Amino acid sequence: MNSHSVAANAARAAAGDGQPLARNDAASDIIVIGAGIVGLAAAFHLLGEGRRVRLLERNGVAEGASYGNAGAFAFTDILPLASPGILRKAPAWLLDPLGPLSIPPSYLPRILPWLIRFGRAGLPDRYRHSLLVQARLMRLAATAMDAMVDAAGLRPLVRRDGNLQLYESEGEWQAALPGWEARASEGIRFEHARGERLAELQPGLSPRFTVGTFTPHWQTVADPYRFAMALFDAVIARGGAITHGEAVRLEPGPDGVRIHLADGSRRLAGQVVLAGGAWSRPLAKGLGDRLPLETERGYNTTLAPEAFDLRRQLTFGGHGFVVSPLVTGIRVGGAVELGGLAAPPNFRRSEAMLKKAAAFLPGLRTEGGRQWMGFRPSMPDSLPVIGPSTADPRVFYAFGHGHLGLTQSAATGRLIAELASGRPPSIPIDSFRPDRF
Ligand SMILES: Cc1cc2nc3c(=O)[nH]c(=O)nc-3n(C[C@H](O)[C@H](O)[C@H](O)COP(=O)(O)OP(=O)(O)OC[C@H]3O[C@@H](n4cnc5c(N)ncnc54)[C@H](O)[C@@H]3O)c2cc1C
Repeated sequence: MNSHSVAANAARAAAGDGQPLARNDAASDIIVIGAGIVGLAAAFHLLGEGRRVRLLERNGVAEGASYGNAGAFAFTDILPLASPGILRKAPAWLLDPLGPLSIPPSYLPRILPWLIRFGRAGLPDRYRHSLLVQARLMRLAATAMDAMVDAAGLRPLVRRDGNLQLYESEGEWQAALPGWEARASEGIRFEHARGERLAELQPGLSPRFTVGTFTPHWQTVADPYRFAMALFDAVIARGGAITHGEAVRLEPGPDGVRIHLADGSRRLAGQVVLAGGAWSRPLAKGLGDRLPLETERGYNTTLAPEAFDLRRQLTFGGHGFVVSPLVTGIRVGGAVELGGLAAPPNFRRSEAMLKKAAAFLPGLRTEGGRQWMGFRPSMPDSLPVIGPSTADPRVFYAFGHGHLGLTQSAATGRLIAELASGRPPSIPIDSFRPDRF
């Protein structure tokens, strides 16, 4: 949270917050619950269809996972996390309590059913299916993002200098090659780099990194919060509105979907989009959709912009973190902590990644960083939920994007706008159904 942004959001909200929805307007009105990057992209696309759109947000705009992420449009990241490779690596990772993957023992019984589904989703045939579905969604993600960036005037906030994935040994690189072959078969371009070429792509690396893979089509934003706020401004400019409040229950009725708020008030909408990120589960459950949505908590530290001469985003895949060049600073972070929504952050994770980054990038100035923890909304098969609720076709789900919510926000917005308008979606959405488990 940041007090400046809360004040700015409140002012914007006051400007856009008009009368409660009138009953006879209900059929043409749509309320989007959650003003994270996914809800904002949905609102932007719905407004593009001429719909009257209102966001409903209980905190400030983009102060959930969309606030402090690594800022990547990871269009080439089509390999599902639930994979045979991760299942092999996980036991070793779990031995290090501050490593890339951790499960606080007290949360293990809660997350066990999700882990079992994750394990099943990582079996070879299901993995292959998720990969093909993810690749198709990513192709849409790239074209829809390009269009949204232009339509919303966000181009100055996007960098197009790719990503460099780094390996500490020939063995680690060899182990990654099947994944690169799978990407190649989906038409993704990349370049393996060594020696001078590697040093040109990123000078100043520790000599322990002898090989890297460069993906030129990967993009990053200047800062994910600034990007989301600029999209919010574009939503308001298109005529969107926002109400501050917390939805606690959705009640479908003959005249629309009634949204019950925590303050006891109600709002009526012709259609509803639930884009509440990691907090979407209770509202879906209230409608009868029991979804295995969990959170993968992630951590980072943002250093001063001059902390390192970073040429592009770097991925240290074997250690589960990235280093991002934002205008607001050098951001070091990642990791997965399967610890639920309630436990306080354990910032020793941010510190552990920063320590490794200092060893990998000698000369990195680590003083004075800002730490952050965010809640990735994650489904066990690494695919989002996009589509109508099984209980009521006027409620659409748009959550569960895990590590890829920024990347897939525009694609999700486009799909939701198509579905809400009764048009066929740009790509099949069967694999994103809420009842696929
Ligand atoms: C460390 C880290 C790094 C990441 N890096 C990347 C990256 O480089 N690229 C990428 O694509 N993705 C990345 N991600 C993932 C990405 O941040 C998320 O997938 C994405 O932000 C999810 O967006 P969202 O809008 O669904 O959720 P959120 O941003 O969490 O927004 C949900 C909003 O809904 C509101 N809300 C919830 N329930 C209610 C309710 N009942 N009533 C009213 N409002 C409600 C919340 O207050 C919140 O504002 C990263 C995540 C982390 C943690």
